[in-house]
Amino acid sequence: MAHDAVGALLAWCAAQGVLLDDRIDVTKVRDKHEDESAWQAESGALAVCARQPIAFNDTIVVIPTSAVLSCKSSDLRHNAFFQEALQDASNDSLHLALCVLYEQLLGDASRFRDYLASFPDHIHSSLTWDKNSTECTWIQGTESARMLQRAAYYQATANPQGWCLARVAAYWDGVGSSILHAVFPGMMQCTWPKFLHAFMLVSSRAFIINVFHGLCMVPIADLFNHTDMHNVQVEAEELVCLKCGASRHKTCRVASAPVTVDIRCIEPVEKSEELINSYGDLSNAALLIKYGFVLDSKTVFEQYGYDIGYPEERAEIEHILAQCTIHFVPTDECVPSSWDSLRCLEPETMASTQRLAQEDSVYPPFCDGDLVLDFVPQAHGGRATWVLWRLCLAAALLEHEVAGIKQLHIWKRI
Ligand SMILES: [Zn+2]
Repeated sequence: MAHDAVGALLAWCAAQGVLLDDRIDVTKVRDKHEDESAWQAESGALAVCARQPIAFNDTIVVIPTSAVLSCKSSDLRHNAFFQEALQDASNDSLHLALCVLYEQLLGDASRFRDYLASFPDHIHSSLTWDKNSTECTWIQGTESARMLQRAAYYQATANPQGWCLARVAAYWDGVGSSILHAVFPGMMQCTWPKFLHAFMLVSSRAFIINVFHGLCMVPIADLFNHTDMHNVQVEAEELVCLKCGASRHKTCRVASAPVTVDIRCIEPVEKSEELINSYGDLSNAALLIKYGFVLDSKTVFEQYGYDIGYPEERAEIEHILAQCTIHFVPTDECVPSSWDSLRCLEPETMASTQRLAQEDSVYPPFCDGDLVLDFVPQAHGGRATWVLWRLCLAAALLEHEVAGIKQLHIWKRI
């Protein structure tokens, strides 16, 4: 972002009616190693910090929804072909990316110009990693690599979850390119790399605010960095009028209070402290794939996951279980087909302690009285969860069916 782009963004926000509390500041992070503050952002990135102490529950930013960039607020909404494309709601982030590129191509004519100018030129995104890239080599055999595999797999099925480059390219070739080329005939910047960049902006910054706008780019709200232990929260009234986006009203002709996106402190904040949001309960693997960064510690959500709906992972589990040496002889008290019986096999004391510590991995941390000490914080990517442990147990109980399809219903149940 150019040096004066922060000033231009703030001036644009003020003109749009965005209210920023005097106690907060949007700033560019200097060299993290020389700066005493513990920034979540990278050096050179933008961050929001407190100029003055802020009390718990104080609202620090109020953004009218008229300032958000969505498929409902972009001028592209007037295009009949775009309206037709919007019928496919499973492509909402691709539709929004098309609006972002459309507004960028409008240049000075876009009412979002100074907001668009605040977006970064370069975005870390797993979308651009090909299988021979350094990044893909590094993540081989990790949960991140599995997430990319899943995205590619789901892209080829009717299941809309997961994104991969092929799906973004298919949208551009089949829908987006023809719409924008008709609007901007012969424009040199109307290209696939520009659309991909717009999509990466959307996938790293956009979120759903309400039933009218759906997924959108929210100025200022998208400047807050992420951590698990966040001190701010983004809030919006979700159930608004589907026709006009106004707050609940009887008919669209009756004016109602403006709808806003509010950012509120959920912890008291010290002077100079960074204000940090949470993008959701995500593992480091998901953060790397979706946002291109990882935290320097285990996240709350961290766990080793398998998606047994994904054939290659099912085969992987079958392979592991085929070598599994766990044997359990059912007794009268413990019937293997019973869920409760499976649960009774868990070391219950340890499981309770772990649950209290929000620890769901099988390898038990060392417990000394009330104190739970986890000696393997760096190895969490390779530990199994209780869910997977039950799965292994169930499959081991039904060893003769391990490689077959019959136990699939048990896996689903687990
Ligand atoms: Zn209405």
